[in-house]
Amino acid sequence: MSFSDKSREIMSRELESIKEAGLFKEERIICAPQNSEIEVVFPLGSEENRVINMCANNYLGLSSHPDVIEAARKGLDHRGYGMSSVRFICGTQDIHKQLEDKLSEFLGTEDTILFPSCMDANCGVFEAVLNEEDVMIADRLVHASIVDGMRLAKAQQDTYKHSNMGHLEKKLQLHQDKRIRMIITDGNFSMDGDLAKLDEIVALAEKYDALVFVDDSHASGFIGKTGKGTHEHCGVMGKIDIITTTLGKALGGASGGCVSGRNEIVEMCRQKARPYLFSNTIAPVIVEGALAVLNMISRNTERRDKLEKNTEFWRKGLKEAGFVIKEGETPIVPVMLFNAKLSQDFAKDLYDMGIYAIGFFFPVVPKGKARIRTQLSAAHEMHHLEKALEAFIKVGKKYDILNKTKQEIIETYGD
Ligand SMILES: *Cc1c(COP(=O)(O)O)cnc(C)c1O
Repeated sequence: MSFSDKSREIMSRELESIKEAGLFKEERIICAPQNSEIEVVFPLGSEENRVINMCANNYLGLSSHPDVIEAARKGLDHRGYGMSSVRFICGTQDIHKQLEDKLSEFLGTEDTILFPSCMDANCGVFEAVLNEEDVMIADRLVHASIVDGMRLAKAQQDTYKHSNMGHLEKKLQLHQDKRIRMIITDGNFSMDGDLAKLDEIVALAEKYDALVFVDDSHASGFIGKTGKGTHEHCGVMGKIDIITTTLGKALGGASGGCVSGRNEIVEMCRQKARPYLFSNTIAPVIVEGALAVLNMISRNTERRDKLEKNTEFWRKGLKEAGFVIKEGETPIVPVMLFNAKLSQDFAKDLYDMGIYAIGFFFPVVPKGKARIRTQLSAAHEMHHLEKALEAFIKVGKKYDILNKTKQEIIETYGD
């Protein structure tokens, strides 16, 4: 009796309570490559199965780019399908080293180490670099993978209020007795699309002798004038000690991550980081695909420039239509609806009109801050965005939320 009636009942009950709380996540099924337009499996009876995708992390539109696919094929032909080994035994090919060098060059860092994912990079780096004499001081809105990575490290944990530099400074003063202080932040916060104040963070780090860690997963490839990331945008290239990022978003979208930064930190990860030592790294197909992506976006800024134009059009269109959006400049554009059920109903109506966007609510975002998070891509053409905007406006009218304030929407729907 390996899975007893009792165990089954315990888990069924928990799943039931997730459903009752309205927090059960259903997955929509896509049956086409990732792109600005995708084919989905629609509910029985519906005929239209092509939708415009407004919620992928495919910022540069490279997930299904022919040149990337071609390069991946080359990887498959010349370096095989898999490594059947972790890096330090017999899992390192020349192309893994090339990709690490290319990432360092692109990000403007001293060295880079690949991980199976950015989640793994974040879960390995703190434990590898810090010990119990140190402190990690994290922004309160950092990504879940950073929270988990911090849990695995022996260093003391502390936080500062989101992007609150006064509060961060107080915490740095409080921890002057520690061996190493590490300030930890996302570059582009994925739920609100706001950028960390890296210039101010670096200044504080210099003043109080601290290291700076930035997870730039939602920035690498497109934030900053040449798309290098939040450090470029904030004018602090070369001053970030640790950058972690993913290959699973703008940089081709397959999978893989890295820690990039100071030589000694990267070397410590090679010696000690457990997800690096005990898990296979990314497969040759992905390595070649990622190399092609980096070559492409190093040659010119066409794709990130197009993304910027698309973002401007979309933000302006939503605002003029009378939606409440989170102000900012990144291609993450949250349309605020505040009420959880409204966000679900709104997303469903959009879907029925051929627009794929997801309603986010507690616990993914705080209570009373439900929203539809839209994300732009360089793969969007103007006709996609015009059609999507039209649908948003139609649904906005249906629920009578256009040109209403936050207060008015909450009065009608609750928070
Ligand atoms: C997506 C994301 C990750 C996880 O990246 P994977 O490579 O898919 O594991 C980590 N950190 C942040 C900030 C992210 O947005």
